[in-house]
Amino acid sequence: MEVVRTQNGVREQTARARVAGRSVGLVPTMGALHAGHRSLIQQAREQCDFVAVSIFVNPMQFGPGEDYRDYPRSPETDLDVCRRDGVDLVFIPEVAEIYAENQTPTIHVAKLTEGLCGPYRPGHFDGVCTVVAKLFDIVGPDRAFFGEKDYQQLQVIKQMVADLDLPVKIVGCPAVREPDGLALSSRNASLTDAQRRQAAGLYRVMCGAASKMSEGVTDASILIRQMEAGLVAAGPCRIDYVKIVHPDTLVELAQVDGPARICLAVHIGSVRLIDNLAVDEGGVPR
Ligand code: AMP
Repeated sequence: MEVVRTQNGVREQTARARVAGRSVGLVPTMGALHAGHRSLIQQAREQCDFVAVSIFVNPMQFGPGEDYRDYPRSPETDLDVCRRDGVDLVFIPEVAEIYAENQTPTIHVAKLTEGLCGPYRPGHFDGVCTVVAKLFDIVGPDRAFFGEKDYQQLQVIKQMVADLDLPVKIVGCPAVREPDGLALSSRNASLTDAQRRQAAGLYRVMCGAASKMSEGVTDASILIRQMEAGLVAAGPCRIDYVKIVHPDTLVELAQVDGPARICLAVHIGSVRLIDNLAVDEGGVPR
């Protein structure tokens, strides 16, 4: 496994792979790798000949007052994980290798970024798109793998790729969860034991809404009120939003009578957690 810290080093390695006729897969991450990231790596391994993982805590996607400085970092453990999982190349750049001084975000995807996390994290998706576009340019992947855990991000990246005609296929991978349903996240490590138990409520309330839908409840406002009440009952929290949206457009639905996605964002203590669940007509989780 090659550990590369420069853009040119990556370009050389991936060019060599392409010349040898190998397809290239990219898994972009911010490190602190867990089983969710590893499921993306495994998909990349299955679908591509040469697997690159990037580890970069992207300052451009954090707003003022967010956790850029405190974001968990474990580069040595991450490299061990990648080695064990058969990764071919890890790109682990310094900030200056990615951004010129004073660079501002350069890519904005409209509409899909306006709802859900958009208003709560101004500029976040511009920062995500800017770094992902750079990574695509540096690595030149045939396929790139993203988690449905960050559902809005996945949709935004797909839109960016379509808008810019980028020659890369975006592969969405299902969320990996703990046995009690909590979606794995690097930020879970910052929860206390009590908060960690409380956090399982996010998945529980979404499943509760899905089962109400299967009983015939289609009024989104009723379902949302019940989910909010469930979150509050689970323990002290601050809810950014609980919404039910169309899975492609992310437009809020008033009636849930077709494919839909429940999406929520909740602060427990100082940790902001997001999660989502796909529901079809009849409320059956997919
Ligand atoms: P991050 O390191 O948080 O930026 O995540 C890197 C990639 O891993 C993103 O595409 C995430 O959606 C994905 N990811 C994070 N957590 C999970 C999870 N629990 N299951 C599946 N994918 C995940």
